[in-house]
Order: sequence, then structure tokens, then C-alpha cells
Amino acid sequence: MYFGRSIGSVSCLLITLLLSTSCERSSLQSDAVVAAEESNNEEGYSIVCTIGMIADVVRVIAADTATVEAIIGEGVDPHLYKPTRDALLKLSAADVVFYNGLLLEGKITDLLAAASDKKPVQAVTELIGENSSYLLADGDNDSHYDPHVWMDVQGWMQIIPVICDTLCEFAPRHAEKYAKNASAYQRQLEALDNYAKNVLSTIPAKQRVLVTAHDAFNYLGRAYGISVRGIQGISTESEAGLRDLENLVDFIVEKQIPAVFVESSVADKNVRALVEGAQARGHPVVIGGKLYSDAMGAPGTYSGTYIGMVDHNITTIASALGGSAKGFKENIPHEL
Ligand SMILES: [Zn+2]
Repeated sequence: MYFGRSIGSVSCLLITLLLSTSCERSSLQSDAVVAAEESNNEEGYSIVCTIGMIADVVRVIAADTATVEAIIGEGVDPHLYKPTRDALLKLSAADVVFYNGLLLEGKITDLLAAASDKKPVQAVTELIGENSSYLLADGDNDSHYDPHVWMDVQGWMQIIPVICDTLCEFAPRHAEKYAKNASAYQRQLEALDNYAKNVLSTIPAKQRVLVTAHDAFNYLGRAYGISVRGIQGISTESEAGLRDLENLVDFIVEKQIPAVFVESSVADKNVRALVEGAQARGHPVVIGGKLYSDAMGAPGTYSGTYIGMVDHNITTIASALGGSAKGFKENIPHEL
């Protein structure tokens, strides 16, 4: 389900070439956008995003032209998120709102729909959602898609033109800057994607199995050739049954998997039960580290950025499963 205007066929990434046409698509502007833009006489406007992974990309593209905030913070599970009073006030005061879509933020769908009457409220996965052959199914619910698209860097790159187009439409005076920032960030993500491919391919083939607390890593698995097993289904709303745990212990022992992983936004008791179960069967599996699945690290830290989050995950997974990884941080192309 999407709110807000549709994305034109001309991507904001081409604005450097097509500046005269791409950001002057006034016919595509909704009344809400025009009204919001008219009321925005000051330099600097306010953007509110649901999850940090979106806010980080928006912050890179918008740079100093807007304030950007995420309402779902560090260590918070977006599947279960219900807005606080403070978050409601921020949503209501924002000039532009970005959310993931694909029903990630299932508890605030109505709230986002209501807000879209007054301002641009944009699903960043709009382009991804148009390509159903890219999307993976939600194992728990055939009518839903798996929303964890940020786990595949190439998938997450597809939110860049959506964000850029939305910002260019809202504040066309900054279009050139947005296009420049977007294309520089695109190059950083391309380098990050290459790092992930290279590093994960160093894991011995029979150990390329990622066992985590919930099914957040299927896009990562498909993109980078890793089998993925989550204890809980796609949404953390479903409780893992005892039988699921026992089946997974059997699997870990049989495949001699060296490490399993906990997640920053999901309770770790099920993963610890797996470790104990495997150890009781004589297979010493360890916890290979904490992965950022549905929320990033602390604001202001490296893992509190999308690139830092992915770097942490990829480096942690590769190191714990017998691959070699030096970290991406030193190799980020700095062009911004
Ligand atoms: Zn999730």
C-alpha cells in the first residue's frame, strides 16, 4: 500500500543531465505537496522517517537543506512499533514523511494514510514494490512481501531515486544538490555491495549458513549466496514454537555450523536456547555476534549509519563463519 504521488520515469539521478525537466514536473505535484511547499518559506524544512535506515539515506541526500529524524529508534522493533505521543507530534509537524512500506510498519498504516492528506508521505520501496520478481514472499503470510529490503545493498540502492525525486519535487531549488549527493551516495553503496560480495565469498562453502533470531536476512542471503534460517518468522509478532527450535538444533548439529547470531532489536532468548540445545548434543556452536537487523546502532556512531550497519553485519558474519573480513570503513569512497 502506498501513499503520496507516483514516481516519474525520469530518475532524480539523471538530474545532472536533465535538470531542466526532471525537477519541474509540476503536473505530478499533488495539491498537498504544493500547499506544503508554499508554506515553507524558510530555508530548511522538516523530514520525519520511520526507521533509521531510511533517515540515514535521506540525511545524506538532503544534507543541510532539511532536518531529518527517525521516529523508530535504536534497538526498537518496527514490526511491533506503536507511536509515542512525541512521535505523533513529530509526524504531524513534518513537511515530508518517508516510510519503508511492504507492511514493515504494520501498526501505523492508518496513521500514515491520514497524514498523506496533508503532506507528501512516501514509501521508499515504491520502485522495488513495482518489481514483484525482485520481492521475496513473507513465509508467514502469502499475501505479504518480505519487507527487509535494506539487507541487500543493491535493493536498498533503489530507494535513492525515490527519495531524491520526492525531495526534488518538494524543494526544487535544491534539485541540483540532491542529485549530486544521491549519485555520490550511489557510488558508496556500489562499493559497499562489492565489499559484501567479496567478503562473504571467503566463507567456506559448507559454512555459508546464517542462523538468526528472526527472518530478516533473506534478501542478504539471496544477494550474497548464504542460506538463511530465522527462528521466528518474518514478523516478530509470531512466537517461535518449541518444535521449530528443535528442528533448528538438528540442522545446526547436522551441518556443523560454527556460529549463530543475535539481533539488536529482537530478544535473544531463542538464540541462546539454540546454543544450549546444540551444546547438549555435543556440538559447540557459539554466538558469532550481534547483528543489526531492523534497527541500526546508536545515533552518531558508525553502526548508526546504513553503511556502518551493513559493514558491521557483513564483517561479523564473515569472521564468525570462517571467512576473512577487514571491514569496509577504511575503503568508503569519500566524494560527498
Ligand atoms: Zn524484521
